[in-house]
Amino acid sequence: MPKERTKMEKRDAQTIMREFTVRRTRQISAIAAAVFLVLLFAVLYKRPDLFGEFSKDTLFLAQVLLILAFLNFTAFNWLCPSCKKYLGSDMNRRVCKQCGARLR
Ligand SMILES: [Zn+2]
Repeated sequence: MPKERTKMEKRDAQTIMREFTVRRTRQISAIAAAVFLVLLFAVLYKRPDLFGEFSKDTLFLAQVLLILAFLNFTAFNWLCPSCKKYLGSDMNRRVCKQCGARLR
């Protein structure tokens, strides 16, 4: 039944686009949070007495952990909903360069 097949492919395409929107929103939130925290740590590094005592070693470690956490999150989140491959650095991508699925 070719008619029903087309219908199902269309629904799949919509599911992919919907999931991409969710992943993109999560990614943008994560970038915003990471930038905010990096800036906050940078301020604390200059003024370690601002919110109590933070040693520069602690702040450096926190910075490294933050970046690692962000990279980990990106590795799990920023994937094509269709082929699960990494989407690359272009946030406004419309088509997956690996499998050609329409993303939005
Ligand atoms: Zn793909």
